[in-house]
Amino acid sequence: MRDDFEISTNNAILRETCPACGEPHKDAGCPYWIFWRGTKRAICQNCLEEHAPDMLEDVSIRNTDFFLEEGFKGGRERGKTQAERKLEKIRHYLNRDPVEFYQFDGFADAKADGLIEPDRDGDWLCWGQTVELMHGATVRMLVVPGTPNADVLRLIDKIKEIVAREGFIDLTEDDAPF
Ligand SMILES: [Zn+2]
Repeated sequence: MRDDFEISTNNAILRETCPACGEPHKDAGCPYWIFWRGTKRAICQNCLEEHAPDMLEDVSIRNTDFFLEEGFKGGRERGKTQAERKLEKIRHYLNRDPVEFYQFDGFADAKADGLIEPDRDGDWLCWGQTVELMHGATVRMLVVPGTPNADVLRLIDKIKEIVAREGFIDLTEDDAPF
């Protein structure tokens, strides 16, 4: 049956009948969807999960890319684009398996409270094990836009010190700060 399916552009959110199982559905409400080959008849989510989960993942990635591009072009109403991007991001991550990581967080200009004790530069760092729905790089660094270079480099140096000093310690779930 999978050979009868093809990915195509779409903009219909009308209720329609699935050509594979005959059930009514409104699953095709996104820029790309999966149709019966050579037609504009949309396959339902249930049939796709059963017969072509790989195509569902492919379509999810295409839709994510589409919304990201739209967001960057600023060609749509901003709030709507943000909401669509969020939805597509969530759909995208639904296809990912949880993977364990070590996480290092560095805060510049940290405010002291019962838990947070900034060092003499005003920095505070915490680290431990976490689980994320991502894969790819061996080491990934995320930086908040607008952070001064000096802050980024100073915090990286401190993370390097922690890795050199402590390595990667196995924490129990109770001890993990994330
Ligand atoms: Zn169906």
